[in-house]
Amino acid sequence: QTPNVLVTGGAGYIGSHACKLLSLAGYTPVTLDNLSTGWARAVKFGPFVQADLLDRTALDAAFAQYQPVAVMHFAALSQVAEASRDPGLYWRNNVGGSLNLVEAMLAAGCRNMIFSSTCATYGDQDGVVLDEHTPQMPLNAYGASKRAVEDMLRNFGDSHALNSVILRYFNVAGADPEAEVGEWHQPETHLIPLMIEAAAGARDALVIHGNDYPTHDGTCIRDYVHVMDLVHAHVLGLEWLRAGKGSRVFNLGTGVGFSVAEVIRQCRAGTGHRVPHSFGPRRDGDAAALVSGSSRAIEELGWVPERSSLKQMIEDAWRWYQTGGYSG
Ligand code: UDP
Repeated sequence: QTPNVLVTGGAGYIGSHACKLLSLAGYTPVTLDNLSTGWARAVKFGPFVQADLLDRTALDAAFAQYQPVAVMHFAALSQVAEASRDPGLYWRNNVGGSLNLVEAMLAAGCRNMIFSSTCATYGDQDGVVLDEHTPQMPLNAYGASKRAVEDMLRNFGDSHALNSVILRYFNVAGADPEAEVGEWHQPETHLIPLMIEAAAGARDALVIHGNDYPTHDGTCIRDYVHVMDLVHAHVLGLEWLRAGKGSRVFNLGTGVGFSVAEVIRQCRAGTGHRVPHSFGPRRDGDAAALVSGSSRAIEELGWVPERSSLKQMIEDAWRWYQTGGYSG
């Protein structure tokens, strides 16, 4: 009998990759997802509970049935523009949903949580190296909702011995190299999948959002990490908690940033196609540069980001795109 891990958001992009890796690592991933942005077809590696985090009765039933050794909590809304228009949606779903989840897990005696957080909790810090000690000053309701959940986990750590590994992601890209699961958002807003669609001729041109940022070529700089490397850090975080090492925060980035223009230039190497593009105005809420300054995950978790070269991420995203994803 392999131990169960409850994966909220297991039908989504990162959660589905986590399920695949958990099953390879000797766990049974139990997906809990409301399918608001996820895909039933992405749930391939273990049982599926279709439920909303705001439904406490459904959460209690899932904990009773599966008795997970830990929770990997991916389920959240994650669109900055939407969060700016409708912050209530983000506070209710991301913060209220997480509170329900934490209370349900503690009621069931489950004390290990691996939480999906984000470098968006740091905000725009103008050239400051972003490590785990950097003060969190989110620019938008999305980042604020994630920071609030981090605070919540610390509070329940003090009061109820909840153990949490908080993982602050930089920009996640790429797909399962075997293309069993991949990134499929509707609508898509992320740079690499949009660029792939433009390279395939499935959309007109990619619009670069701003080329007047204070960076070497004027376009925004991001630290991209391959989704398989990212979920590997979650499995290491799970082992960290099961070894009793206690609560810890880790940034997950490579420490190397690429500008939007540089990512577009690499597309040819990864796909064999050029990306038609044009320049447009800045997008609201975008920080000029977000690069992880930390090697804590590498040093303490023993994390090795092996697939996170730009070319590899674009190649894997391209291979997945060619399968047709979850459309049709
Ligand atoms: N970006 C862009 N054109 C697009 C989508 C994204 O220029 O059509 C830029 C965006 O402004 C940001 C970077 O690409 O500087 C990465 O954006 P993405 O949405 O992928 O991730 P984010 O950094 O917002 O989490």
